[in-house]
Amino acid sequence: MKTENTVWHPTQISKSDRARLKKQRPCLLWYTGLSGSGKSTIANAVDDLLFERQCHTYLLDGDNVRHGLNGDLGFSDEDRVENIRRISQVGKLFVDSGLIVSTAFISPFQSDRDMARELLEQGEFIEVFIDTPIEICEQRDPKGLYKKARAGEIKDFTGIDSGYDIPVKPEIHVQTAEKDILACAQQIVDHLKTQGYIN
Ligand code: ADP
Repeated sequence: MKTENTVWHPTQISKSDRARLKKQRPCLLWYTGLSGSGKSTIANAVDDLLFERQCHTYLLDGDNVRHGLNGDLGFSDEDRVENIRRISQVGKLFVDSGLIVSTAFISPFQSDRDMARELLEQGEFIEVFIDTPIEICEQRDPKGLYKKARAGEIKDFTGIDSGYDIPVKPEIHVQTAEKDILACAQQIVDHLKTQGYIN
């Protein structure tokens, strides 16, 4: 709980100092899409490409965060909002440290994604829509979750019995049915180059 006596202490080294040292413009790549759409796969491929270019990055992956930081949260509406709130706050701290941060979470609701966007400064939030038709996600079913959801073993499964708001104006729209993983990752790296986040 927030106390009245807590004040934000300005740090000596600023975000722009850290960014200059790292020779990049920090940002948060917010991957959103259905389960099995390819968020983790593509975010990892982008991280590899950026690492090769000597960029400084960090990847917050949905399932991994649920094991640690958000291990106390379930999938109720309240917990889903809290999940996103913590992830965006952590993402913001990492951006403040000068990194190019990726988060890979279904984040089905536009209102939650907008909440994350509003935390960051203009140009720092990059919504990456991993657009894969549900039939293809279901065929891929990398974690066997669609099978379980169809069998009624998982409730409130996004795309089956829980909604997904199609991103209204994502900065990057990746259509994974049309190209391979590397080409999808390259599309994102190209965006970072043309928009001046990396050299
Ligand atoms: P999510 O993180 O969105 O739940 P995953 O990345 O875990 O999805 O799983 C996506 C699966 O789809 C992986 O097994 C991946 O190898 C496969 N796949 C096939 N083609 C593509 C593509 N073009 N882009 C991304 N993933 C793809």
